[in-house]
Formats: sequence, structure tokens, C-alpha cells
Amino acid sequence: MSLLKINDLKCHYQAENHTVKAVEGVSLEIEEGEILGIVGESGSGKTTVALSIMGLLPENTAITGEIKYKENVLSSLSENEMDRLRWKDIAIVFQNGLEVLNPVMKVGVQVMEPMMKHLDISSGEAQSKCEDLFRNVHLDPKWMDSYPHQLSGGMRQRVLLAMALSCNPKLLILDEVTSALDAFTRKEIRDLLIELQKKNAYTMLMISHDITFVSSVASRVAVMYLGKVVETGPVKDILLSP
Ligand code: ADP
Ligand code: ADP
Repeated sequence: MSLLKINDLKCHYQAENHTVKAVEGVSLEIEEGEILGIVGESGSGKTTVALSIMGLLPENTAITGEIKYKENVLSSLSENEMDRLRWKDIAIVFQNGLEVLNPVMKVGVQVMEPMMKHLDISSGEAQSKCEDLFRNVHLDPKWMDSYPHQLSGGMRQRVLLAMALSCNPKLLILDEVTSALDAFTRKEIRDLLIELQKKNAYTMLMISHDITFVSSVASRVAVMYLGKVVETGPVKDILLSP
């Protein structure tokens, strides 16, 4: 069954005195339990697709087409309903932990925040769930008491991953999660994602311009070029063909 279905999505940003046609008719489907990769060069519209699913595009963006999550057409949901869907149903991990994390808040507290807001649990439960999440992403729970700048780039990505997984989302969107990392750390995060997927059968939408990374984790891939999906198919046919 498809968990997410995007039909003829178009997203046009209103820049100062012109329109940027970032997405120009994208249709995609993500089956439950699969890892779909979206690859394409910088500027091809990948992040715009991710933000449109999350309902996080700038307000003056012109959006047409339909995004359906399970039975819900996302554009017909109220802001409150969309808020409930974020974290618990769909969570996203962005590229740069230093930009996303609050610099003056301990990372453990930041991972606990969405749980406290969206799950009906006590702070004690959130604390112990946070410890488990840290262990799941191979971070010693002692790091919960540190601030983002005290961690390495790879550790910050693990924190973001723990945070995104905190409310048990059905769909995890990964937007260039390894792009700011060195080759060694990139491989560690790749192995972690493969392990997490094996354990929990997450549905993932993995956006990256790093074809090696995508081909080693995703099962199916969509190639974007100038706002359009120009090819879709199994990784072995599209990325690994000679
Ligand atoms: P990718 O993720 O593939 O690098 P993006 O979705 O970030 O692509 O960007 C697609 C196009 O939209 C690019 O030309 C980019 O410059 C433009 N763009 C992205 N965000 C905005 C914005 N907020 N306002 C105007 N143009 C934008
Ligand atoms: P705010 O300051 O209102 O939280 P944001 O732009 O950070 O503004 O977030 C907008 C919405 O997106 C909020 O509902 C927030 O909870 C949600 N959100 C932010 N980050 C994520 C994420 N990584 N996964 C899921 N939802 C998120």
C-alpha cells in the first residue's frame, strides 16, 4: 500500500521580482516499508519536494497538485491537523545540525521536546526514552547533557536522527543528511540507517546528491532534473547500470 502519493506537484517560489519554478510537475509514490531515494543535482527541486510534504514551504509559495498521506490530502488539513501529523507521522532530518539545533539548549532536552509535546508521557518517561534513542543511534546517553557545539558533525546528525525518531514516525524524510560530513562519518551514518531500517522497517524518503550513498541504502530511486522527475526505478537499473 502506498503511504505517500504525490500527484503532479508544482511549487513556484515568489522571489523579489520573479518566480522560481522549483518543482514542475512531480508525481511519486512511496510504499510502506521502502526506502525511496531522490537524487539530482543541486537546485533540481529535491528539498522543495521535502518541504512541501512537511507543509513547511514559505507562505507565498504557489503550490498545485496533490500530496496524499494515507487517506489525507495534506493541503486540505488545517494547520492544527498538520501539526499533529508532523513528528508522529512524518519527521524530517535536515543537513546541518548546527543550523537546526538550538545552540543554548542541551541536546537531550531538545530530543525530549517533541516527545513531551506530542506523546502523552511524563518527563521521566521522556528521559528514559531519550536514553534509549541515543543508544539506538550509537551515542552514549552521557552526551544528552552537552550543547550542540560540543559535539562533532556526525554526532549532531545522530542527535537529529534520534529527535526525528522520537515520536515513532511512519515516514522519515532525510534531506542531505550526510552532505556536511567527511567520508568516514558518512559511512558510519549510512551503516546506522541500514541497521535502523533492518530493525524497524521504516519508510524513508532519502534525498541526496550523493549517488554512492543513495545506491547503498535505497531500494528505488527517482532522478530529478530542473524540477521534474526524469527517471524512476530500482537502484540497480538506474544508479548501478554501466
Ligand atoms: P535541491 O534541493 O535539489 O538543491 P531546492 O528545492 O533547494 O533544490 O531548490 C530548487 C530551486 O528553487 C533552486 O533554483 C533554488 O534556488 C530555488 N529556491 C529554493 N528555495 C527558495 C526560496 N525560498 N525562494 C526562492 N527560490 C528558492
Ligand atoms: P516553529 O518555531 O513553529 O517550531 P519550525 O519551522 O521549526 O517553526 O517548525 C514548523 C513546524 O514543523 C512545527 O510544527 C514543528 O514542530 C515542525 N517540525 C520542525 N522540525 C521538524 C522535524 N524535524 N520533523 C517533524 N516536524 C518538524
